[in-house]
Amino acid sequence: MKIGILAVQGDFEAHAAMLQQLGAETREVRTATDLDGCDGLVLPGGESTTQLKFLQEEGLADKIVKFAEHGGAIFGTCAGAILLAKDVKHPAQVSLNLMDMTVVRNAYGRQIASDVVSGPTVLKKGPLEMVFIRGPVIERAGPSVKVLAEYAGKPALVQHENIMAATFHPELTDDTTVHEHFLSLAKARVKKSANGGKSST
Ligand code: GLN
Repeated sequence: MKIGILAVQGDFEAHAAMLQQLGAETREVRTATDLDGCDGLVLPGGESTTQLKFLQEEGLADKIVKFAEHGGAIFGTCAGAILLAKDVKHPAQVSLNLMDMTVVRNAYGRQIASDVVSGPTVLKKGPLEMVFIRGPVIERAGPSVKVLAEYAGKPALVQHENIMAATFHPELTDDTTVHEHFLSLAKARVKKSANGGKSST
């Protein structure tokens, strides 16, 4: 299984290390062709305005939307979640519009602007450790969006079909639960293409 990681800025190397630890092959993505042959794509944290500008200039924005439409798994963390959200506030920003949710940038306030906390998750027994670094708040998650983990009563990890978004940084902990779940989505796509486009589930 091959996972592309947008490698413009931000903490893409930590994602690569965790995915490799779980047995996936990783590839740094900087151009539209880098995405060819990938089963999944990680949009890491960083600064979403800078990342968006890069995606638009490189023709990667359109390519990523097509990749998602063809069943490619995408996981956006923090700035990456902002890129996926349908509606972005504070300040408003256009996006890839791949997840029906509204995010408010830098909205957790000073206390947990950057902090390690934990919250409930449906992915495992016991709480999930979450590292927040000037993360956005998911103010609204659409009816088709599944909430996989919460912090302070707000969704912190969400999924809609092959798309996942976290407002925190699972790649900065030792817990591989979230990345394992993402790989299961990418694997479902591998099966899909192996069956000539028919889903095996
Ligand atoms: N605050 C950043 C933004 O709005 C996101 C921070 C992060 O990815 N750690 O783009």
